[in-house]
Amino acid sequence: DAGRLSKAEIVKKRQSLLLPNLSISYEEPIKFVKGEGVWLIDDRGRAYLDCFNNVCHLGHCHPAVVEALATQAATLNTNTRYLHDNIVAYAERLTATMPKELGIAAFVNSGSEANSLALRMMRAHTGRENAIVLDWSYHGTTQELIDLSPYKFRRKGGHGPRLHVHVADLPDAYRAPADWPQEELAKRFAASVAEQIDTMAAKGEAPGFFIAESIPSVAGQVFMPEGYLDEVYRMVRAAGGLCIADEVQVGFGRIGSHWWAFETQGVVPDIATVGKPIGNGHPMGALVVRREIAESFHNGMEYFNTFGGNPVSCAVGLAVIDTIERDGLRENAADIGAYLKAGFIELQHRYPVIGDVRGMGLFLGIELVEDRESKVPATATARAICNEARARGVLMGTEGPYDNVLKMRPSMIFSIANADHLLGVLEESFEAVARTE
Ligand code: PMP
Repeated sequence: DAGRLSKAEIVKKRQSLLLPNLSISYEEPIKFVKGEGVWLIDDRGRAYLDCFNNVCHLGHCHPAVVEALATQAATLNTNTRYLHDNIVAYAERLTATMPKELGIAAFVNSGSEANSLALRMMRAHTGRENAIVLDWSYHGTTQELIDLSPYKFRRKGGHGPRLHVHVADLPDAYRAPADWPQEELAKRFAASVAEQIDTMAAKGEAPGFFIAESIPSVAGQVFMPEGYLDEVYRMVRAAGGLCIADEVQVGFGRIGSHWWAFETQGVVPDIATVGKPIGNGHPMGALVVRREIAESFHNGMEYFNTFGGNPVSCAVGLAVIDTIERDGLRENAADIGAYLKAGFIELQHRYPVIGDVRGMGLFLGIELVEDRESKVPATATARAICNEARARGVLMGTEGPYDNVLKMRPSMIFSIANADHLLGVLEESFEAVARTE
């Protein structure tokens, strides 16, 4: 079924009915009518290999999730003021994936809502407002979160940082100054956080919190140098601030080796916020917090969330965690991710435009540069590769401050055959773009 409306009709209606700042992927838009596993099917019946969307964590329309959702939706959906098994069952399962210090869960409806609730908790616990964020980060749609998102406020339409927002350098090892010794990268980048704390101290102020994605993804699939978060968390805590890990993109086992990306840095945050893959497409978010912070937040004001933690969402959340565990999807992500990364490195030997290959599990990036010495971003080439791949039926994205990083986050069920398919199309795309340059 191709749907009732042609692509041109939908574009026209979007223009007259919807916010003009809702963008559309690709110059020639795609209309999808069905999703199944790693595949998206367009209105002409063509199948595309989805290597981009990290929300459909277990693959599009995973039967276990659809079944859990439909069964619970047909039985009961209410709010958290009535007792139900699902919310406690889900809280037990979700917190069991986290370090033991993070034992209290709160359920919301999106990643933004999770970060927004984290800010309320931070304020209740510290009484402070000062924020330290990493450059080029993004944390959500609300005004208070746009204010914490250089990715938005530094760009067109943004108004720069507000007074309580302190931006530290992005710890991007690939673009570190050439004279920094490799073993000192963590310390050198962390010095930028110390500087922000000093700036506040000079005014008699202190940080309320530090928030960062544990692997900065919006900033271009950037892996922090080993020891960086440990160093930064120590500094922020010494100044009385809290540490919030935004795991909205990178969490739920995508990186393979661990459930949560902060674990790769050997730290335990005070609050971890999660979203996107949590419901395999069903709109959900959550946070997990230390008990003493939850207790500060319990200050007399009720917390009620109409939809958060409802029996249907919790049934979906349980099905997602069950499936990851039952089907060994973390192990799969680690294996297939390593295979893909090796394939990317092999391509890097043959295409000088590939400056850097980065990845952990099924969280992958390829940074393109005009020249490996100067590292001038090859933004147009990245876009061209994306378009060539789309023409060959493979979906990926571009990301980063210069939009020159090919971003791939395929679903956790990706197979070796899917990986070979992606590698073949990438090879053809690099070849096609090299021919036209
Ligand atoms: N944090 C990060 C790192 C994100 O990538 C996003 C969404 N792109 C959010 C928070 C906000 O999540 P949502 O769109 O579900 O509100």
